[in-house]
Amino acid sequence: MHLDGRRGMYIYWGNIHSYVRHTRGLSQRQLDTLSTKTFHDSGSLNSCRVCLAMFVEGEILRSLPCSHEFHAVCVDQWLSMNSTCPVCRGTVRPSSN
Ligand SMILES: [Zn+2]
Ligand SMILES: [Zn+2]
Repeated sequence: MHLDGRRGMYIYWGNIHSYVRHTRGLSQRQLDTLSTKTFHDSGSLNSCRVCLAMFVEGEILRSLPCSHEFHAVCVDQWLSMNSTCPVCRGTVRPSSN
């Protein structure tokens, strides 16, 4: 009984893995080619559309080719599973070199 339970868990994780592989977005190397910048409060209200939190002075943002900006940590997580902008759904095509 105990062994059967562990086997079930293994199969479950196997399915998760193939699901992630099927819907994979950008690799870390591709993410690294997208530009980042440090947020400086310019008086305009900006928030991250992934986590919905306001940008805070000094946070690292990543700009996508469509000029939408997000927390680097938030959009990196999104882009590892999707290759589109969370806001405009524009395809994020990193420059390959
Ligand atoms: Zn965020
Ligand atoms: Zn966009």
